[in-house]
Amino acid sequence: MDLIAELPKGNRRALARAITLVESTRAQDRDAASELMAQLPHDRQALRIGLSGTPGVGKSTFIESFGLHLTAQGLRVAVLAVDPSSARSGGSILGDKTRMEQLSRDPNAFIRPSPSQTQLGGVARRTREVVRLCEAAGFDVVLIETVGVGQSETMVADISDVFALLMAPAGGDELQGVKRGIMEIADLVIVNKADGDLKAAATRTCADYAGALRLLRKRSGDPVGFPKASMVSALTAHGLDEVWADIKALRDFRQQSGFWQTRRQDQDQRWFDQELHFGLLELLHSDPKSARIVEEAREAIHQGTRTPVRAAAQILASFRKT
Ligand code: GDP
Repeated sequence: MDLIAELPKGNRRALARAITLVESTRAQDRDAASELMAQLPHDRQALRIGLSGTPGVGKSTFIESFGLHLTAQGLRVAVLAVDPSSARSGGSILGDKTRMEQLSRDPNAFIRPSPSQTQLGGVARRTREVVRLCEAAGFDVVLIETVGVGQSETMVADISDVFALLMAPAGGDELQGVKRGIMEIADLVIVNKADGDLKAAATRTCADYAGALRLLRKRSGDPVGFPKASMVSALTAHGLDEVWADIKALRDFRQQSGFWQTRRQDQDQRWFDQELHFGLLELLHSDPKSARIVEEAREAIHQGTRTPVRAAAQILASFRKT
């Protein structure tokens, strides 16, 4: 299949094949993937929305109803997952189609589970490429989902235009548990499960987050009122239109202020840095001679005969000569 011809037509099979290609670790696939990436049309941009939340908060329920809300408006929606746990467990707990049954049957939606982390630099590195592929295939919105664990949120925020944090209704004490760093990168804090018995707690929690967000410094380039806390029920689809309106308002304002473009340019610079960083490491490890020297250095450090700094400096010096 001619991927470069088929992708812009929105051919989903072509998209799936292209993703498999960029996720492959075989050297010849990497070359083909890099060639494909270079040929992608640059005039297509999707709205990239990052979404994070702990397991059980309702991410799949939210993505299912939010995704359907968007496809009902004629938008094409891709859902990708960045799952830091899939490396260890081997299985994926995100982006699983069975979690979003209706959306996965929607012809205007495309759901891709998290790739397993077999490569240096891991999942984020490939996810950036997959986002670009989805854009080239004409998707209007790319939702990138992650679990609130470790570095994955920062990673996803660095791939998205808008980053949303999904929260559950909670007591006041639990609010303290949210890491400040995460609040600082969130554009939207969405309190889910605002229905039935949980509605009162959700209203309180939402007010608490709104208060906490007001204490943070407003980002330049953002409209008044952001970052914002809001309430939804993914189960009843209540509040989804407001979330979508907020995201669009943020997009429009940022595009006009120039923040949007700057953010993407900065992200591209970091993407380049990471490619270079991990590419160099791969080069070092894939060359048998260098790989052997690295192993020797490890052993020497283990024996205490060489310091880590010295060992690294020696390898870099020998690498420079080759
Ligand atoms: P995930 O692990 O973050 O993907 O969470 P799920 O989407 O699997 O949801 C976890 C549980 O919360 C499920 O039992 C859902 O039915 C429930 N849930 C999700 N959204 C809502 C909601 O808006 N209201 C209520 N009451 N329950 C919800």
